Amino acid sequence: MVETGKLLRAIIRDGHELKTTDQTIHIINAELLESEGKTRLTNATIVGGRFKETADTVDQNAGSTTIDARGGLLIPGLHDHHTHLIAYAASLVSVNCGPPNVTSEAELISALAKPSGSHWLRGTGYHESVFPHLDRQWLDTWAPDRPIRIQHRSGRLWILNSRGIELIEGAARRLPSHEQDRLTSTDGRLFDVDELLGGLTRSDPPPVGQASQTLAAFGVTGINDMTPSNNTQTWQWFTELQNSNELLQKVRLSGRPELSHSQQTTRLSIGETKVHLHDSSLPDLDEFVSTITLSHRQQRHIAVHCVTEVELVFTLSAFRSAGTLPGDRIEHASVIPPALIEQLCELGLSVVTQPNFVYERGDAYLQDIPRGEHPFLYRTGSLIQAGIPTAFGTDLPFGHPDPWAAMLAATKRTTFNGNQLNEVECITPEAALNGFLGELEAPFTIRSIKPGVPADCCLLDVPWEVLRSDLSSSHVRMTIRDGELIYNRDRVISSHLPR
Ligand SMILES: [Zn+2]
Repeated sequence: MVETGKLLRAIIRDGHELKTTDQTIHIINAELLESEGKTRLTNATIVGGRFKETADTVDQNAGSTTIDARGGLLIPGLHDHHTHLIAYAASLVSVNCGPPNVTSEAELISALAKPSGSHWLRGTGYHESVFPHLDRQWLDTWAPDRPIRIQHRSGRLWILNSRGIELIEGAARRLPSHEQDRLTSTDGRLFDVDELLGGLTRSDPPPVGQASQTLAAFGVTGINDMTPSNNTQTWQWFTELQNSNELLQKVRLSGRPELSHSQQTTRLSIGETKVHLHDSSLPDLDEFVSTITLSHRQQRHIAVHCVTEVELVFTLSAFRSAGTLPGDRIEHASVIPPALIEQLCELGLSVVTQPNFVYERGDAYLQDIPRGEHPFLYRTGSLIQAGIPTAFGTDLPFGHPDPWAAMLAATKRTTFNGNQLNEVECITPEAALNGFLGELEAPFTIRSIKPGVPADCCLLDVPWEVLRSDLSSSHVRMTIRDGELIYNRDRVISSHLPR
């Protein structure tokens, strides 16, 4: 196909992605999903960054570009409804310290010894199953020669060696004394200081471009960044990252109440007010209720982090006092006893959960959590059946960033070691795909390829009939956002295409 060749060569020539926003693009021989898994073969035309039509014939005039889908499925670009993009970018230049890569004390010792240098070593993903007593003394014994900080996979705890603690204490002298106190620790374990620590240790900016390209290769065109500390500075940072085209995806930025006053663009929108609860230090209920009320007054939804039953019960009682708006969300909803399903329904709350944790962490859940509670863990099927709006987010970097792996986990509920967790919660591939097809602002409203909608899409190399039994990101061929090609797997072989 002449036009395809031209398009691909243009990408090679420029060294980066071709901007096609103003162009006409025909995606021919594409399969579109209809309702209930039915499909139809058609041609989709993009003009000015939006889908103009889907039709049996196309008018290939001069200047237009044609991509032959060869019968592959064309779906709306995936939306990851729960992410932490900056932490994910930072994790790409960090050492993985947890399962499945690192599962024993010996493996942790060798992981920490690998990267050379005397600058900060940042570890992520640590969990007690690797080795239960990780502290300053252990790190000083096995890795004393450079400053080290290792993050627990919950994201709440950092563990530092003595070199690290010394550097942090030195740098913290310019901070107010109550913040210095939060950074003082004899065993090197620091809780809930993520933001402070980031500010004191950040030398080079994390590789957001690399992170964004990886997501584009999974077919992701939009994310909701759920980091609770997101504020006006984060907003500014994301604006700059998008303007420089380092960040390719659309972003809904959730976080602090102050974000309500931000100036939205077509690619950056104001997300939910994020409330991060911890079992051990729940906030004052009245304060929580007034946060919800205030947010609702600004027509802004609330998203509450609930990973335990206590947190969920507390949250439901706050919503009962404050009232709910359709679109208020429970994040994770890791543990839901049957009685609380009814309450979620009554209150009209929705759930954004991570089926990928079934695969990634399921073995630890099976071992550590009483058998009687296993049916309550990371539910999906029973929520959908109960009519609770349910969508998915990977929680990257705390979960693996590949949404296709999350879809697969939602359909199989198999753990890393091949065990089964709560099989009755399995859902169909169609329902699993829908978990990532919702609008960023309404994750439960499923998008489709139709005239008038933004040309955010993902082209697969196989039809749905094949893909539904092989949910894998290896099938992603191209990703387009607003009519702009942001990922193209064929790029490497493009020089062989005919002129
Ligand atoms: Zn999260």
